[in-house]
Amino acid sequence: MDEKILIVEDEKDIARMLDYNLKKEGYRTVLAHEGSAAPLLAAKERPRLILLDLMLPGLDGLEVCRRIKMDAKTASIPIIMLTAKGEESDKVVGLEMGADDYVTKPFSIKELLSRVKAVLRRSAVIGEALQIYQAGDLELDCSRVLALVKGKPLDITAREFELLRALMAAGGKMLSREALLEKAWGLDASLEVETRTVDVHIGTLRKKLRAEGKRIITVKNYGYRFENQ
Ligand code: CA
Repeated sequence: MDEKILIVEDEKDIARMLDYNLKKEGYRTVLAHEGSAAPLLAAKERPRLILLDLMLPGLDGLEVCRRIKMDAKTASIPIIMLTAKGEESDKVVGLEMGADDYVTKPFSIKELLSRVKAVLRRSAVIGEALQIYQAGDLELDCSRVLALVKGKPLDITAREFELLRALMAAGGKMLSREALLEKAWGLDASLEVETRTVDVHIGTLRKKLRAEGKRIITVKNYGYRFENQ
């Protein structure tokens, strides 16, 4: 897993408890015990997630949140606020500022870990949705659902787009037919779509790409890979 989490918490016992349990789950951690260090640390370390206590000495949590969300380098890093009872209004302000979730103290570590996982999962999905993949003059713009060659849209179907996205995201590594089916058909795959269907769509996609000098390589008895150059 190896995902880095920034913990901003002045109460040493809580910080230590979070640090211990997150490491046990396989995350890496960075700690800040006061607010003023947090925005810079976030910019430098680029964690995948920030756990942010709201009651902090120096810069309070809301201000830390505001600064992190204002800085383009850190704006997309998800934040889970750690709030105490009675900080209801702060919680709302934090969420309005762009924090993703909050946990009220005292919390169980189990609850916190499940929130961490949920936020990381969500942000991974969003990250993927905004991704742009590039191979030479071919560009796959996932937020606009467009495949472009030298800036001109390539005429491909939605399914071909999903296949190409999966292949390009794999970065040249081979993918099995089953994996491609799951990625490009998603839940529909349970509707008895056969792996042969993948071959048909790959076939049409391949033709369109070949015209642009791009190749999808067949891996015999297994699947396909994209020639990533
Ligand atoms: Ca505190």
